[in-house]
Amino acid sequence: MLRFVALAVLAVLLFLILRASVYAFLGALRGQGSTSPARRRGLDELVKDPVCETYIPRRKAISRGSGPAERYFCSASCADKYVTRS
Ligand SMILES: [Zn+2]
Repeated sequence: MLRFVALAVLAVLLFLILRASVYAFLGALRGQGSTSPARRRGLDELVKDPVCETYIPRRKAISRGSGPAERYFCSASCADKYVTRS
């Protein structure tokens, strides 16, 4: 009988731990969601086209390369010019 009670307590504890981790996981997901307005602001940030030197919002820009070498252009023709130039 005592063993049954111990098992029941263990099961409840396990359930609580699982539930806590699920809530933590959901909280992390929600936390990511709350950073999306900041990301949208990042997309409205002005970036400089290195070819014609105009500033365009990042969300409208055409990008070439990745990471620190990523460059943004106002149009595909500027991007092509940059690629052939370098
Ligand atoms: Zn351009």
